[in-house]
Amino acid sequence: MADSLRWQDILGHERNIERLRTMLREGRLPHALLFSGVAGVGKKKAARLVAAALLCKKADAPCGDCPSCRAFLAGTHPDYIEAAPESRGKGARVLRIEAVREIEKKAARKPLLSGRLVVLMDEADTMNEAAANSLLKTLEEPQGEVFFLLVTEKRAALLPTILSRVRDLHFGALPPAVIERHLLAQGVEGGQAKMLAAAADGSLSHALLLLEEDGLQLVEDAAQTLFSLRTLDMFRLWEKAEELGRLPRERGEDWLLALSRLLRDMLVLYAGSGALYHEERRVGLARALQDFSEERVFSLLVEVREALRRLRSNANARLVFEGLLMRLGNAWAGGR
Ligand SMILES: [Zn+2]
Repeated sequence: MADSLRWQDILGHERNIERLRTMLREGRLPHALLFSGVAGVGKKKAARLVAAALLCKKADAPCGDCPSCRAFLAGTHPDYIEAAPESRGKGARVLRIEAVREIEKKAARKPLLSGRLVVLMDEADTMNEAAANSLLKTLEEPQGEVFFLLVTEKRAALLPTILSRVRDLHFGALPPAVIERHLLAQGVEGGQAKMLAAAADGSLSHALLLLEEDGLQLVEDAAQTLFSLRTLDMFRLWEKAEELGRLPRERGEDWLLALSRLLRDMLVLYAGSGALYHEERRVGLARALQDFSEERVFSLLVEVREALRRLRSNANARLVFEGLLMRLGNAWAGGR
């Protein structure tokens, strides 16, 4: 939880950060902000920095050294409320109305240290409708100086009424070069940093997860499978589907994402220009073009995307992979 309070420590997002700092400097930060974007790009980190700056009240950045900043860093700031959904057993994570009411009660108090209150709601999309409606009333009639910072990976899951009450800041995917630089600075070896950055889909936390869990092995496996599709017999196909189906769901998704990036790279090679995700595999991918017509690559890509969608909507993983590999492998039986 304790992290630094420096804007420089947030990777990328220069324009958002500039906007936030300007609003802070000029004292015109809206009372409700939404930090939206994919996982692991620094949304929550930015929201926490805004919170610390609002509470420090120096200017556009927390000083890091006043009683407010020290309390913030220690996680004991009396005017800072951070909320996240609770998970109930194996069920979905939900921000319930009781939790929102609790937040609202705290947010109605008199500030003790900073003269204002800041509420950070992580995974705000997990509010159920009752909770969202309750929050809506607070957003419509704020009592005193309270700031609400909502964070979400699923902007579309928020009620339109909530969306209409918040200022939206979208945090896009990080460019691979930014992730690569960060990994290099962390001491990750050059070639590996490049490959991880390519495979991370614009998310730093995803890159770090891949590093931790030997994710490059998945990319290698996806490539091997793709390049051997033509020669895989039925038995091997079933075997492979079973093996993939046993992966934890997120790893299965990573495998499919790796495969879709390889296919996208093949389309780039067909187009004759553009940067490859997997530059280091250029030769192997170019060789594979002999086996895959451009239309074929395109239709494979559609299949992979569909498999990914099904996996994410909790379909049986083994069946998803079985269906996918069957269709991919069948291509040659039918010609092309
Ligand atoms: Zn301070």
